[in-house]
Amino acid sequence: MFIITERQYNIIMHQAQACYPQESGGILGGRDNTILGVLPIANKHLYDRTETFALSDDDIDTGYKFLDKHKLEYLGVYHSHPKGNPYPSDKDLSHHQKYLFIVGLRDRYNPELYAWRVEGQNVYAENIKIISDIGITVVDILTGKPKLSENLDEKSMDRLASMIDDWIAGKSPEYPKYEPSKWDASSFSTFA
Ligand SMILES: [Zn+2]
Repeated sequence: MFIITERQYNIIMHQAQACYPQESGGILGGRDNTILGVLPIANKHLYDRTETFALSDDDIDTGYKFLDKHKLEYLGVYHSHPKGNPYPSDKDLSHHQKYLFIVGLRDRYNPELYAWRVEGQNVYAENIKIISDIGITVVDILTGKPKLSENLDEKSMDRLASMIDDWIAGKSPEYPKYEPSKWDASSFSTFA
């Protein structure tokens, strides 16, 4: 089971909304299966960002610095499936990660966040407990699905999405640098 605060859960969800229909993602850090750090990362795939989420070596380096700075353990990569269900793809499973965190956006306004534990060929769903910042359980994902759209109307959702968009752009001002010559596709970790 994983525990995540509502605030961090919302960072992941709002990023997924802002990047829709492209895939979004990032790195999760924590202690003892409690998610304490979310590092959103801009999708580095060159041409197929609606089907693939890619991290560069620099992103992985930034991720480790982020975890080190906040004294967090690496828990895993999260990424979205804008059109599909939140089950890991064969490509996702090929990375031999212990945990895969996937946001399913089959219904954009009722996103699903799933944590999967991978053991060899087997994949198990881990419950995620969303708690408020003062520690009160808001929802258990496997037992009671969160309904983001019950709390936010479409307009608020769009405004939040564009705020997150700006925030991501501001945080990473160097991003619009998609010159192919600077990219080495072989160094990418890609999640489908
Ligand atoms: Zn995937």
